Amino acid sequence: MTSAQRLAVVVETPQHSGLGAALDYLSEHPLAPGSLVRVPLGRREVLGIVWNRGHNADAELIDVAALRAIGAAFDGLPPLPPAWLALAEFASAYYQRGIGELALSVLPPELRKLDAPGLAKRQARLVKRWAREQTKDAAAQQPDVPPPVERPALADEQQAALAVFDALRAEPQPAPMLLHGVTGSGKTEVYLRAAERVLADGRQALVLVPEINLTPQLEARFAARFPGRRLVAMHSALTPAQRLSHWLAALLGEADIVLGTRLAVFAPLPRLGLIVVDEEHDPSYKQQEGARYSARDLAVYRGHLERLPVILGSATPSLETWQRALQGRYRSVPLALRIGGGALPRVRLFDMGVLPRPSGKVDEAPIVLAPLVLQSLRERLERGEQSLVFLNRRGYAPVLHCADCGWKSGCPHCSAWRVFHKRERTLRCHHCGFSERVPRACPDCGNLDIAPIGRGTEKLEEQLAEALPGARIARIDADSARGKGQLESRLAEVHAGEVDVLVGTQMVTKGHDFRRITLVVAVSPDAALFASDFRAPERLFALLMQAAGRAGRDAEAAARSEVWVQTWHPQHPLYAALKRHDFAAFAASQLAEREAAGLPPFSHLALLRAEARDAAIATAFLQAAAAAAGELDAAGAVTVYPPVPASVAKVAGIERVQMLVESASRARLQRLLADWLPRLHALRAAHKGLARWAIDVDPLAI
Ligand code: ADP
Ligand code: ZN
Ligand code: ZN
Repeated sequence: MTSAQRLAVVVETPQHSGLGAALDYLSEHPLAPGSLVRVPLGRREVLGIVWNRGHNADAELIDVAALRAIGAAFDGLPPLPPAWLALAEFASAYYQRGIGELALSVLPPELRKLDAPGLAKRQARLVKRWAREQTKDAAAQQPDVPPPVERPALADEQQAALAVFDALRAEPQPAPMLLHGVTGSGKTEVYLRAAERVLADGRQALVLVPEINLTPQLEARFAARFPGRRLVAMHSALTPAQRLSHWLAALLGEADIVLGTRLAVFAPLPRLGLIVVDEEHDPSYKQQEGARYSARDLAVYRGHLERLPVILGSATPSLETWQRALQGRYRSVPLALRIGGGALPRVRLFDMGVLPRPSGKVDEAPIVLAPLVLQSLRERLERGEQSLVFLNRRGYAPVLHCADCGWKSGCPHCSAWRVFHKRERTLRCHHCGFSERVPRACPDCGNLDIAPIGRGTEKLEEQLAEALPGARIARIDADSARGKGQLESRLAEVHAGEVDVLVGTQMVTKGHDFRRITLVVAVSPDAALFASDFRAPERLFALLMQAAGRAGRDAEAAARSEVWVQTWHPQHPLYAALKRHDFAAFAASQLAEREAAGLPPFSHLALLRAEARDAAIATAFLQAAAAAAGELDAAGAVTVYPPVPASVAKVAGIERVQMLVESASRARLQRLLADWLPRLHALRAAHKGLARWAIDVDPLAI
């Protein structure tokens, strides 16, 4: 064994962050960092990644003879690129998760199941298939007569954006580029041209989108533009086998373009030349469990690490990104005009205050559609145009209610209402999934007359059907789109013109390119103006701008396109900015508010979350954690707020308590978190009954 090498191997242990989780093994052959290996761990054999040699701080104390040998190396598979390892290390440290947990969790799950010969076989099969496809493609295209791909002539603004991109790309350390373009301004064309440039250089392009639903459309556009290039998707709806083969295509350099959701930010790409983050403001980029990373932020970091251009695209950038652009840290490039010269739709506010007040409690009143709004809907029907009517949250849900005794359909396991699902006649909790058949009578008083309250999309659909006889109405929300292919077929109906009025939640406002919609109605968006979530106004503005972008995509129809916003607060500055389609004004007012309140991007936040059956146990853990933080942060650079119940305080019988940690300095906050983590692990042992705890760095909501 004299020739045996000592290797530090990272395996999946959810322990401390940093490299504490790297274990030492012996190998007969030298293996480069990033090599995948199978190693014995206890009585099991698990997947591991070779990190740096002799990385463990107390390596000299280790008795080499006592080390176990690695199982098998995945020969023939190139090691994960150094930049990939650096990205994983950064994410592990920044989001306070064990390197093993983080690095292994972003690999395709199928890899864990395969032994070395199994993977080699899979790989050989894939390579053969790819080679076959390539020859077929080449034959079909008759290489001496390359098929002309239609590319539109660029608009002036697109041209200018690409000139900036080219200049950035030539820099040794390109700053990220913010492509601030209104809907329909041709952002995607800019992504395509940018990708074209890096592909021509023999590099790979990574394109991130917020939602799986948005991948097929974009995939089709990229595939049409780059025939003969291999394009792979990466998202959670792929089969395990697909995920593995797409991942291999990326790592082996077979794939030229990787298009995917947030997990694709970890695609191993040896020739990466460009990262695009479309709809960079979208909250879906933040992972909400495990390692709670922001794929948008990691994309920016990855670009920095690999000295690559990153394009962040949005009509309504996140305030974090916007502020960096204002500071000059990102290059902001506007696309203010719609392709084809179409105007943005006219935004009209309907002042709900002029209508007679509905009797009873507001949340029990029927959904009000203003007469003017109904009239606009009828006009569209007469002209054969489409309308989109949306409620901005499924959560304004039809809760069942007894008018006699006040009973409401609560969830016995959560601090939440269970929601009435009419078609299945069930009451379902959207937090824990607990579902029951609707009771025949009020469980408390026996009253037979229990009825839905609130304002769900189903109810809206019913009301519209009543108000617009003969209209073909389709509903899209998380329920109606649950079944496989249901969303696609619904959308196809809309495209085919078989639908007059599309009703739904915010799901319907995202990205879909509906040509014939000339009216968008926001039924009751006000709640977000006064929500406790400090990002709610930002989201509302983005949502309404995006929804407005659904109208008049067709230039000819743009002239008569309208957005109606039904509001009790027509004077609100958010709506004033919306009317002018003025993101900059909205952002300025929001940034001023955030600065005054000491909120991001003017401060940096983390949440420590604790869960237990008994809230007192979770709270005691957090209080002990706060005391530890006080000792570690003697200078007082970090503020630790008192523990409070989470916004949904109880889920499936488990109480959730959280504690906010804030600092004006990101570095100070990071230092505290790193020092805190081992203390928290120790504290956990002292708090029996604690179910879970976790740190959420840069939380979306507090
Ligand atoms: P965005 O992503 O900004 O909403 P898209 O890139 O989808 O906008 O562009 C809107 C429409 O305009 C698409 O149908 C696209 O094919 C078309 N388009 C984009 N750029 C051009 C151009 N330079 N000339 C003609 N059509 C274009
Ligand atoms: Zn529940
Ligand atoms: Zn009752």
